[in-house]
Amino acid sequence: MVNEALTAGIDEARLWARHQALAEHGATAAGGVNRQALSDEEIAARRVLVEWGRAIGLAPFSDAIGNLFLRYEGTDAQAPPVLTGSHIDSQPTGGKFDGTFGVLAGLEAVEAMRAAGFRPRRSIEVVAWTNEEGSRFAPGMMGSTLFRGSRELADMLAVRDGAGSSVAECVRAVRAAEPDVPERALGFPVAAYVEAHIEQGPLLELERKTIGVVSGIQGKRVFRVTVTGEENHAGTSPRRVRKDALVAAVAMLGRLHAEMHDDEDVVKFTVGLLEVSPNAPSVVPARVHFSIDLRHPDPDVLARLGDRIAPICEAVRGPCAVEVRELSHDPPLEFPIAMRDLVRDAAAGLGLAHMDLPSAAGHDARHLHYLCPTGMIFVPCAGGISHNEAESCTPADLAAGARVLVEVLGRLAA
Ligand SMILES: [Zn+2]
Repeated sequence: MVNEALTAGIDEARLWARHQALAEHGATAAGGVNRQALSDEEIAARRVLVEWGRAIGLAPFSDAIGNLFLRYEGTDAQAPPVLTGSHIDSQPTGGKFDGTFGVLAGLEAVEAMRAAGFRPRRSIEVVAWTNEEGSRFAPGMMGSTLFRGSRELADMLAVRDGAGSSVAECVRAVRAAEPDVPERALGFPVAAYVEAHIEQGPLLELERKTIGVVSGIQGKRVFRVTVTGEENHAGTSPRRVRKDALVAAVAMLGRLHAEMHDDEDVVKFTVGLLEVSPNAPSVVPARVHFSIDLRHPDPDVLARLGDRIAPICEAVRGPCAVEVRELSHDPPLEFPIAMRDLVRDAAAGLGLAHMDLPSAAGHDARHLHYLCPTGMIFVPCAGGISHNEAESCTPADLAAGARVLVEVLGRLAA
């Protein structure tokens, strides 16, 4: 049985309108969103969230990495809160729903609770984690990683974007824009975490399901490779003296792609960033910098393949030098059965078609998983397309996800 007083308070039109309103901050000509972590666009979107929260009495908080919390006070103010949310930063060519849905669904759930006069025992906090995407500042999921306590704050504050700005400077700018948002300690006890998110894959749509009960998240390792050669004249330098960093990098990419290939298409190996320096037509390239994103659901395979990367690069570097740096190693994980049952029961109670499925994409829930019972709710996105300006969802599916969320939150916080 679901708590109909709560689920009836989810307002599909308001939830949809808020997605459109937030998408104005960083709107692109092609209908997507470019709202990168700690940017002016994100500062503006945070302001809107704080105002929406304040309008229903939610207290905003932030912390040393800029995570943003909106707190709905429970009857037992001392009890660790239930957290729900996701992120509002986007890829440079992102969509309106990735991350944003989880934050707005959390806010909508609290709206529904207030409308029903439901005050839970535990406080509920809607959170927007800092830098989930990792496109401007690597690695991603910075806010949730630091909240978990598995990385050093100083290391993350020192990270710089391509233009030379540091996370520290940008967090300062965010916090300076929010003098009315108090700061709390980074990390605190949490009773449970639930993250609603668009699937970013095609399974729900193909199976004609509205709700995905997320079973876990596949593992991921992230690397940066730097190949160093020597600048030289394209016309005069003979091959035997050349140290062409691009030739070496191309050999590495060829070998890596070949060795990471599996006929079953389970291994996900991606080089999405490649920088050539000095990047001039008549100069032998002196330096190449590229990224590696490697994912697999099996921890042993992920470990074995990831450990192959440095030796492969070393083997084909030729006269150049190569440095392989691992930025993160997140093993695959499975969410607790009890959390999956809660999501499944809520979907079933609401009469929504649902299925269990693993998450192929990484989420902030990965890090909360090690702090408290954690679960995720997926809703479909058209064609499974995400990290793309064409990302698309239906108002009805988003509202269905928010109904499942408020039911789950109501039980966890009771
Ligand atoms: Zn996301």
